[in-house]
Amino acid sequence: MDLKLFCLTFAAIFLAELGDKTQLATLSFAGRNPHALLLVFVASALALVATSAIGVLAGGFIARYVDPKYMRIGAGVLFLLIGLATLLLPDTKREQAFGRLKTELERYVAVAQCRTCAKFQGTLGEIAGQRHPRLWWVLRKLHVAPDGRHDPLGCPDCSADKVRALFEEERKEMG
Ligand SMILES: [Zn+2]
Repeated sequence: MDLKLFCLTFAAIFLAELGDKTQLATLSFAGRNPHALLLVFVASALALVATSAIGVLAGGFIARYVDPKYMRIGAGVLFLLIGLATLLLPDTKREQAFGRLKTELERYVAVAQCRTCAKFQGTLGEIAGQRHPRLWWVLRKLHVAPDGRHDPLGCPDCSADKVRALFEEERKEMG
């Protein structure tokens, strides 16, 4: 077995998939279905195997008709185009907006009074409705069981309105 080719392929695909849309999608599915993590893992792994098979078959097919030198150039150009598209895609802006919201929410993990506040928890519920993978863990950390709640109008100095305002602002930016 060509170990060098094996390691090179593994490293290239592993790095390309890390933090990629496919991984974010897997994260999102896993986040929404914490009771079925194995099922999500198997389904996503099979999907990646299927796309790899398509890639290998297509590469083998093209290699029969096209000079390898031109294939390398073509692949390079394709990589550059995909990279550019990823940078320019509106999704990136959305990711950044969620990133800012996540950073702000992280600060409230330490604010004990609002963690048990019904108003604050209700606002978290609305944000959770966006089902964004980047917000999953911080929302989980902030969420408390219903029996831990108190005043539905919010605690003194409640952070709920501030979080809601920030959420609306970031949502506007997402378009
Ligand atoms: Zn509060």
